[in-house]
Amino acid sequence: MSKNIKKLKKVLHKEGLRFTSQREAVWNEIISSDEHRNADEIYMAIRQNGVLVSRATVYRTIDVLVKNNMVRKLDVGVGPSKFEHKMNTSHHDHIICIQCGHIEEFVVDQIESLQDSVAKEYEFILVRHIHQLFGICKDCQ
Ligand SMILES: [Zn+2]
Ligand SMILES: [Zn+2]
Repeated sequence: MSKNIKKLKKVLHKEGLRFTSQREAVWNEIISSDEHRNADEIYMAIRQNGVLVSRATVYRTIDVLVKNNMVRKLDVGVGPSKFEHKMNTSHHDHIICIQCGHIEEFVVDQIESLQDSVAKEYEFILVRHIHQLFGICKDCQ
């Protein structure tokens, strides 16, 4: 069994949920892509693969994955939230188009270290941060 599936089993057990092939399909679909997709797009992709799963199961499983730090939920400002998996991905921030929802990922060392100095100044130990820029992409301008 792969490490990712073991992790899913552990989390479902902790949440008092059964490990089912439907929930496994949700997780497999999410980790199969590096795209940022909303819950409905993930649901459609699973259905397209021929897996019979209800929308409610997909939504609820995603919630559990977000709660347990396996999936990141992105508030994109317009339309439904988008999701991306957090397995073997390095830290990155997002710039989001408020018109079409297009998302780019970026890492800027200066921003990262500035955030560290802010935390230091206020005597915080930094655990995580969410940094999102909202704008209008080239295609929508
Ligand atoms: Zn756009
Ligand atoms: Zn991302």
